[in-house]
Amino acid sequence: MANPGDKVRLITKDKEIEGILMPQEGSAVFIKRKDGYNIGIDKKNIKEMKVIEKKKEKAAKPKPLKQMKGKKKILVVHTGGTIASKVDYETGGVSAKFTVDELVEMVPELADIANIECDFVSNMMSEDMNFTDYKKIINHLKKCFGRCDGIIIGHGTDTLHYTAAALSFVFENPPVPIIVVGSQRSSDRGSSDAAMNLLCAAHFIAKTEFKGVAICMHHSSNDDVCAILPATKTRKMHTSRRDAFKAINSEPFALVDKKSNIEFLAEFYESEGELKIKDKFSEKVGLIKTYPNFSHDLLQFATKHFDALVLEATGLGHLPTNTKENEKNYELLEKYIKKGHIIAITSQCLYGRVHPDVYSNLRRLSDIGCIFCEDMLPETAYIKLSWLLGNFPEKAKELLTENLRGEISERTLYKEEFID
Ligand code: ASP
Repeated sequence: MANPGDKVRLITKDKEIEGILMPQEGSAVFIKRKDGYNIGIDKKNIKEMKVIEKKKEKAAKPKPLKQMKGKKKILVVHTGGTIASKVDYETGGVSAKFTVDELVEMVPELADIANIECDFVSNMMSEDMNFTDYKKIINHLKKCFGRCDGIIIGHGTDTLHYTAAALSFVFENPPVPIIVVGSQRSSDRGSSDAAMNLLCAAHFIAKTEFKGVAICMHHSSNDDVCAILPATKTRKMHTSRRDAFKAINSEPFALVDKKSNIEFLAEFYESEGELKIKDKFSEKVGLIKTYPNFSHDLLQFATKHFDALVLEATGLGHLPTNTKENEKNYELLEKYIKKGHIIAITSQCLYGRVHPDVYSNLRRLSDIGCIFCEDMLPETAYIKLSWLLGNFPEKAKELLTENLRGEISERTLYKEEFID
């Protein structure tokens, strides 16, 4: 019987294909061919599956990658997540296991695009990341700038957009492109998006002069095009689809296809001048969503323990502060701001802009000093405010609504595709 990891030959009515058997998904059998691509064949069409070689228990030491003159050098920095995971065949779960060498060995085409080197920072799921983990990534990147032409960061998808935003605030004018890449399906699944996301990120670095932080993920659910997305205006919008990451209130910078064609869609934040690094994050910022029957106790706790709060308000920036019963929320916020703390208002609508002038109850909030964060995403506002309080506590209020890294658009765009 063939098991995942075995080398097999699939015999169909009209062809024979060899490759490594991958974990089963649905009605197809997936194998990884020698050229690195995965192919799925409907079980109905398979006449025979022959095991040519059983899976080796211990992976052989990977061969050193070939270095090519005249090609850019790309460093793949591994932090963990599904992109670096494989299925545990016994439990059926996904756990972080791959070493970086294994990861690049799985996508051999990377070595044709650029000279690849790999570094290990961590092997963790991104839902567990703390600012101390950001610090590790940042310290590592500081050491990498001088020795490569571009960096790909392999990262878990759940909080990938927070990390991308954090890196773009920390590194003003990065000397090389930093592209954060994840995958929704683990790298050893036939339907994995890992290889394509990595390849498109590498093509983008190899073929453009882009310098800055961006995200590279599938643009559609097909395995054909990836999007290069703005680090401060992107969000994970689906739990499982391969095209889960969408630019919000913005467009992708570019689309990259398998054949390395690049189509630019939007101007990107251009870094000019000297690299400046500001790498502190305050741990005293909270992010709270408001909702019907909002808990005053929660607000009391938050205002007691945090120096600043990002509120994910409803609609245009509304907070539960208008009824007699909710007046206590209003008074609490007023007192908190008077003490010098910050209340930053974003919207759970995500698309569009918060606005203090449309309703009188919004004007009441701006009257007590709540800061309306334009069309900034709640997650970006949280990262930005933590970063501002870490590095520029005196100017944090003022800088919050200044566009520093493309996080605020001047105009709200009303293209239909933004609300698809
Ligand atoms: N929970 C995982 C993470 O964010 C999911 C993934 O990697 O895609 O690390």
